Amino acid sequence: MLRVSEIRLPIDHPPEALPAAVAARLGVAVQDIAEISVFRRSCDARKASALVFSYSVDVALPDEAQLLARFADDRQVQATPDMRYHFVGRAPAGPGSRPLIVGFGPAGIFAALILAQSGFRPIVLERGKAVRERTQDTWGLWRRKVLDPESNVQFGEGGAGTFSDGKLYSQIKDPQHHGRKVLEEFVKAGAPEEILYVNKPHIGTFRLVGMVEQMRREIERLGGEVRFQQRVSGVHIEAGRVRGVTLASGEELAGERLVLALGHSARDTFEMLQQAGVFMEAKPFSIGLRIEHPQALIDKARFGTHAGHPALGAADYRLVHHCRNGRSVYSFCMCPGGTVVAATSEEKRVVTNGMSQYSRNERNANAGIVVGITPLDYPGGPLAGIALQRELESRAFELGGGSYEAPAQLVGDFLAGRPSRFLGSVMPSYQPGVRLTDLSTALPDYAIAAIREALPAFARQLKGFAMDDAILTGVETRTSSPLRITRGTDFQSLNVRGLYPAGEGAGYAGGILSAGVDGIRVAEALTRDILQAGPG
Ligand code: FAD
Repeated sequence: MLRVSEIRLPIDHPPEALPAAVAARLGVAVQDIAEISVFRRSCDARKASALVFSYSVDVALPDEAQLLARFADDRQVQATPDMRYHFVGRAPAGPGSRPLIVGFGPAGIFAALILAQSGFRPIVLERGKAVRERTQDTWGLWRRKVLDPESNVQFGEGGAGTFSDGKLYSQIKDPQHHGRKVLEEFVKAGAPEEILYVNKPHIGTFRLVGMVEQMRREIERLGGEVRFQQRVSGVHIEAGRVRGVTLASGEELAGERLVLALGHSARDTFEMLQQAGVFMEAKPFSIGLRIEHPQALIDKARFGTHAGHPALGAADYRLVHHCRNGRSVYSFCMCPGGTVVAATSEEKRVVTNGMSQYSRNERNANAGIVVGITPLDYPGGPLAGIALQRELESRAFELGGGSYEAPAQLVGDFLAGRPSRFLGSVMPSYQPGVRLTDLSTALPDYAIAAIREALPAFARQLKGFAMDDAILTGVETRTSSPLRITRGTDFQSLNVRGLYPAGEGAGYAGGILSAGVDGIRVAEALTRDILQAGPG
């Protein structure tokens, strides 16, 4: 097949216009096109006058080799790459020890799925509850201010991204097209097919819940096991090799290969791993506040006269500013038409994040406005970043009045350095509520200074961004893992054989898609290791 890119058509084009445009581009007759499928579609809203879709399509034609030769110098006409998933091998016959996977977020789900599809029968240990029960518990904090430290936004079936916007794109290098496998499995599990071809796919929280359940059933159908409310509280290491785990219940499980897909909030587990001698190191992450604007303002700033057009949906943004004090401030996890959510997993702490439904039709846009920090800001070893996160989250709890309400301030007041007393035209969406205050003590001074400098700079990129009534809510601390459980080229821990750190908590992913891809890579490395070890 051939991949033809940059086919541009007005957004209201009839279906037959696409094959006609492709045929014209290639100089062939429409009837010669045996098959056509859209690989990617993005909407170009840069020009105020015309709104166009830009397509990349895969087409099957009789004389592809000839055409490729004719378009040899044209980067927009190429052979379609093989994007099918290729398994690295099948599980050997016989009993063999079953791989253990800790955590059932995207990294753990995809590690388990690939291993199950390869004929291994992985055992997944997840500290939280199955997703339906977990949803009740998560809403318990949002509606009733009751936190279950083992079943919440961070912990439970589906992992941290289950109550999210479900954005499914990433900047990672992916030469083997593992991201495609992730998206295809999501579609099999119930995601809309469009995630395979739209430019910035998202699924919203509602669908994610059903998809996660469906993927669990598939893993079980293939012989895997997924156990909930099974917190791993100890790892057995003998002579530098994994031998098994202890669960919080006291149960012990033997295992020669252990995938740690913990997520970035498993602070107690990181402490346990450090005590067990597993090599870890501090890594950079970001801290900040979450900002809310009317979605209509963002739509107008991004799409101008096209704002509100159904083909465009709710606009997103991505902003970066490099500050005079050397810090960089950027927008993080932007959720168009969504809500700010309470995302703590620990008692008496407040953490913000964002989520939305597939429709993205809530009135506000929200995003983290975060400042990059490095271990130089939190010296003291691998766990020092966690100590800083905890300090900021506890302070936010107190600033919010000590009841899981979040501290908030209007942008105009934040920039002027005065506490907020009244809301303006923007209603905060954070549940269980916000308390208006002064956020200047919510973060270290350098971070407050950087955000104060960045907001007006962002307003120069996106008109209205620094509007007085926009709301800032604090604090955004769980942007990525503050540490890395470092692994070698064989994907195993640097000092413990059989231990496979995976996903965001281990420092190897930063989002649903990249965590899923990392889970696949780890499953492949584990498979290779088993196959190389041979029988017995
Ligand atoms: P997680 O998803 O964090 O999964 C780790 C799992 O391990 C958890 O279920 C946890 O309970 C379990 N676990 C931890 N310790 C133990 C233990 N000791 N024993 C047993 N189980 C344990 N990313 C995007 O790409 N797009 C988005 O739109 C998006 N929105 C988000 C919105 C919110 C509110 C949040 C919180 C995150 C969002 N993210 C988003 C980030 C995304 O969710 C994460 O990057 C992703 O889930 C990381 O996957 P993971 O599998 O590495 O870890």
